[in-house]
Amino acid sequence: MAGTVVVFDFDKTIIDCDSDNWVVDELGATELFESLLPTMPWNSLMDRMMVELHAMGKSIEDIADVLRRAPLDPHVAAGIKSAYALGCELKVVSDANLFFIETILEHHGLLSFFSEINTNPSYVDEEGKLRISPYHDFKQSSHGCPLCPPNMCKSMILERMSASVSASGKKRFIYLGDGKGDYCPSLRLTDEDFVMPRKNYPLWELISGNPVLVKPKVHEWSDGEEQERVLLQLINQAISADASGSSQLLAIDCKFETLPMPARESLRQALPLRL
Ligand SMILES: [Mg+2]
Ligand SMILES: [Zn+2]
Repeated sequence: MAGTVVVFDFDKTIIDCDSDNWVVDELGATELFESLLPTMPWNSLMDRMMVELHAMGKSIEDIADVLRRAPLDPHVAAGIKSAYALGCELKVVSDANLFFIETILEHHGLLSFFSEINTNPSYVDEEGKLRISPYHDFKQSSHGCPLCPPNMCKSMILERMSASVSASGKKRFIYLGDGKGDYCPSLRLTDEDFVMPRKNYPLWELISGNPVLVKPKVHEWSDGEEQERVLLQLINQAISADASGSSQLLAIDCKFETLPMPARESLRQALPLRL
């Protein structure tokens, strides 16, 4: 049973750069990207850039090679593995795209730790071009959230997640992010939850600007080392809280008698300590 669901943003949270900028810059298309940026939404521009890169002779394998070189702090990888080993359910919510995220997570052996990747869909077309579609089809209808870009409101993803995981015994979210797009879901989290904004990045600035608007407990981090440390601290606290909750229940069941040794043993075994 996953008592804690850890939700990771991807760019500048799992990897230490923005994967869209990284691919564009590494493949020498920065100038074109910047000249087109004022003319269309970011997500549409990334799809357009994939067409442009293909026209420049860059293959899908060239893109994958660049993605595999994107910086990912070993502490972030260690944090992900430990969180999973401690029994948490891990999910990605990102405005990048599925090809970028899967290529990077797979390269670092991290893909299998995540139960869900919520992001913009992508596919390789018959000419070998990567095509990126919006997560929310804004040409059909608007998602109606004024805080978020037209292609994705992360709150709506979180709400769907919340409905599906609460049935499986979820007690809290820990949400890690850095960007403007992570603010909307932070506003929807409850006081049972935690938000981990990256210090001095837009999410942290928005939260610090008006802290009373945010109900979850806020724990900042600056780099991979601190992210791992703070995340594991929060998870271990949550495990202790859940354990004392269940031992209380057990105590009530036993009519406040002292627990016999075997019951204590099985309680300890039931704790998700699989490090
Ligand atoms: Mg980000
Ligand atoms: Zn929103």
